[in-house]
Amino acid sequence: SAMFPEAGQPRQPQFSFEFFPPKTAQGVQNLYDRMDRMHGLGPSFVDITWGAGGRLASLTCEMVNVAQSQYGLETCMHLTCTDMGEDKVDEALKNAYKAGCTNILALRGDPPREEEKWVATEGGFQYAKDLVKHIRDVYGDHFDIGVAGYPEGCDDQDDPELLLEHLKEKVDAGATFIITQMFYDVDNFLAWVLKVRAKGITVPILPGIMPINTYASFVRRCNHMNATIPPKWSQALEEVKNDDAAVRNIGTGLVAEMCRKILDSGLIHHLHFYTMNLAQATRMVLDELDLAPSEERPLKPALPWRKSLALG
Ligand code: FAD
Repeated sequence: SAMFPEAGQPRQPQFSFEFFPPKTAQGVQNLYDRMDRMHGLGPSFVDITWGAGGRLASLTCEMVNVAQSQYGLETCMHLTCTDMGEDKVDEALKNAYKAGCTNILALRGDPPREEEKWVATEGGFQYAKDLVKHIRDVYGDHFDIGVAGYPEGCDDQDDPELLLEHLKEKVDAGATFIITQMFYDVDNFLAWVLKVRAKGITVPILPGIMPINTYASFVRRCNHMNATIPPKWSQALEEVKNDDAAVRNIGTGLVAEMCRKILDSGLIHHLHFYTMNLAQATRMVLDELDLAPSEERPLKPALPWRKSLALG
């Protein structure tokens, strides 16, 4: 069909936006408005995070319901499985199902802050792959299931080979796409993608892109998420660190350059934006990449998300 690029033709990159449940009722209403407006940029889906330990769980479920069934946005719900009871997991899945949501990002969940090492709940799920299996057992093919990928490594597993092995297990359990942690080291990411493919993992990989809002939040997030900062980036941003507008402009250039390199590799056809519930920095990057709709390039009807992924 005309909706699909012919083989060999450059394909239009897809993108998606992550949001998290705000703390106040006013914040929630503001976010609905912003999500609706950002939907005008043409993301193939929006996703809503799950509060650690099920904190604000009912708000995540409500937001998924409103985004999917009232605003008609293709929505993906994050869900963790080890830091709360199985009954809560099932309730969340049922809510998503009833709302017409067909995408779940299946996660293990972080260990509680006080505990150094994470410990599984007795009789419950132990790893994200257990949740993937559970969703497949109960709902068959109803849901597309995403899982987390770690090109920069993760705290509780220093062996990158083993991490890849565990990623493979999640995909073998039924996951259909991978979203990565945030990163700014493109070469490392692209090398990781090749390793993932060499492992026989063929599902689409959605790189996690964190646009830059302020210098302080940029540094804080990199440290918190263990993301390597390329020297060129720290140099360029530090010089203007007290000027938020300059940080956003330079940051937009750097992030857009990184996105272009990712897309130009031909290995990746989708960008996943950590919006931090803000529109401006993400929109600036999309404008810079010429991916935002404009008069010359009006918004095309979005490909169905599953079909667009099948192309990935
Ligand atoms: P898993 O894939 O289960 O891996 C966890 C650890 O177990 C890894 O070290 C892995 O190597 C190890 N492991 C896996 N299988 C085995 C095995 N067979 N034997 C031994 N070890 C094994 N957290 C939230 O609370 N809410 C969110 O909304 C949220 N969204 C996220 C979105 C993305 C894109 C990412 C990257 C992370 C997100 N997180 C979220 C954080 C996530 O919950 C944590 O990173 C968590 O510590 C690991 O989750 P996982 O799903 O990757 O776990």
